[in-house]
Amino acid sequence: MPDPVRVVPIVAPNPGPFTLEGTNTWIVGENPALVIDPGPALESHVKAVHARAGRIEAILLTHHHADHDFAARALSEASGALVLAFDPRNGERRLQDGSSVTAGSVRLIAVHTPGHTNDHAAFLEPESRALFTGDAVLGRGTSVIDPPEGDLELYVRSLRRMLALEPEALHPGHGPVVPDARAKLLEYLAHRELRERQVLAALEEGPQSTEALVRRIYRDYPKDLHAAAGRTVLAHLLKLANDGRVAREGAEPEARFVLLHQRATTEG
Ligand SMILES: [Zn+2]
Repeated sequence: MPDPVRVVPIVAPNPGPFTLEGTNTWIVGENPALVIDPGPALESHVKAVHARAGRIEAILLTHHHADHDFAARALSEASGALVLAFDPRNGERRLQDGSSVTAGSVRLIAVHTPGHTNDHAAFLEPESRALFTGDAVLGRGTSVIDPPEGDLELYVRSLRRMLALEPEALHPGHGPVVPDARAKLLEYLAHRELRERQVLAALEEGPQSTEALVRRIYRDYPKDLHAAAGRTVLAHLLKLANDGRVAREGAEPEARFVLLHQRATTEG
């Protein structure tokens, strides 16, 4: 048996409602190491990551959100390591689906997992089957799917794809390691299916605005979550519209959504 791969999280000091304890920067392997998501542009964090990582072969980005990628330039300049991303925007080298990135005896395989963002990637370490999930799966709570950047249909497909990889533990971009990857991915899929059923059930009673759907579906949740919930409900509505099951009536902010089979029975 080869020695287990070193996997160390460094939590960035950017806690918040969406970042949980802060962004997890993952150091994989040793001398040289790979770094996944250098995190926000905080000097103390860049220093902590560099000190712990030692020699860095490459810096990999799960996606272009500030809390994951803003430190890429500083860490790259400090370490001399290349930055790799699915959608290069700041001089990064392009990753493809299935690309292997090697550092010493450690290898990571890039898996395109769009949904949270279109450029989102997860990284599989094939020996331990650890999967680094960025913002596609969090250690706690659910991932934000905020249209139009977020796409729920692609996201659900990506969850199924990650499940098919048969990962062991999930190493998320925020929150603790998830030891049972399969259970968490199934929970995430079930959660989205439940929300879709709730949206459809509410629309059975007639056309409704996103706000009305949120008030109904999230009535047991604190009001300060309702704005974020509205984005999630909109993501469901856009997916259902794309599936031909729901249509939008009117323009924002007065837009309402209607079930298509209901319209067929009342109008024709
Ligand atoms: Zn993100």
